[in-house]
Amino acid sequence: MTWRLHFTHTGYCTSNRADVLQGEKREKIRFYATIGILVHPNHGLVLFDVGYHDQFYEQTKTFPYSIYSKITPVFHSPEENAKSRLEALGYSAEDVSIVVVSHFHADHIAGLIDFPNAKFICDSNAWRSIRSKRGIWAVKRGFIPALLPADFEHRLELIDFEKSTAVKHHKILKREYDLFNDGSFMISELPGHASGQIGARIQINSGEVFLIADAAWVRENYIEMKLPSQIVKLFFSSWVEFKKSLERVHRYHNEHPSTVVIPCHCFSTLMELNRDSVEL
Ligand SMILES: [Zn+2]
Repeated sequence: MTWRLHFTHTGYCTSNRADVLQGEKREKIRFYATIGILVHPNHGLVLFDVGYHDQFYEQTKTFPYSIYSKITPVFHSPEENAKSRLEALGYSAEDVSIVVVSHFHADHIAGLIDFPNAKFICDSNAWRSIRSKRGIWAVKRGFIPALLPADFEHRLELIDFEKSTAVKHHKILKREYDLFNDGSFMISELPGHASGQIGARIQINSGEVFLIADAAWVRENYIEMKLPSQIVKLFFSSWVEFKKSLERVHRYHNEHPSTVVIPCHCFSTLMELNRDSVEL
């Protein structure tokens, strides 16, 4: 049995093409915050990231969190919330059993408050890197603590890639966590953009998808190994780790060309997978 994937977005911020791809011309681009809604006959409803949410505006009104919304102006409406997207597909937010959190940047976690019965899964390194951060120290890591539900920590399940018995070795992707112990949903380590960032390699009806979060921003990053501008180093947890993770995705793509690689913010990928969700 395999997973079904619905792929959609939760609004966007604007960015610059020259920051995303070194050497390209300065041009404003839309950076959609996409999410994966995964459905399985036995394992139920699982989300990969939850994107933007109305509460993002509320929580970035005051300093220092306002810095975040000034750096990345956000365009979002309530019908783009992950919860609204689920409902439009005929699912209920109460039925989401797991949310996989790729990393804690605000554009990936703002919608977490809408899933009261879900447990949250992330890399222990990701949680450790932000859990005690507040104010300007949080903003520096792209994290806005008030976006997390009050009981977040109680519902959190951490992946320890060093110790967990569910971790398997992949020749290209290295350590992967077998979420359901059946190989259908493998969580891969892709750190560097943020500490403990993870992706998910999932067997769906039509083949395999590999949700890579922000390990690449656009497909040119991993296909051609074109790096983002040096300026973004300021916001990354480790440039060296980022390049290693990107290299792994690049190699994986070359050796498994039929796998659909999905960077969270890639406009071309979103257009191919769900053109109707995008206003042109
Ligand atoms: Zn990010």
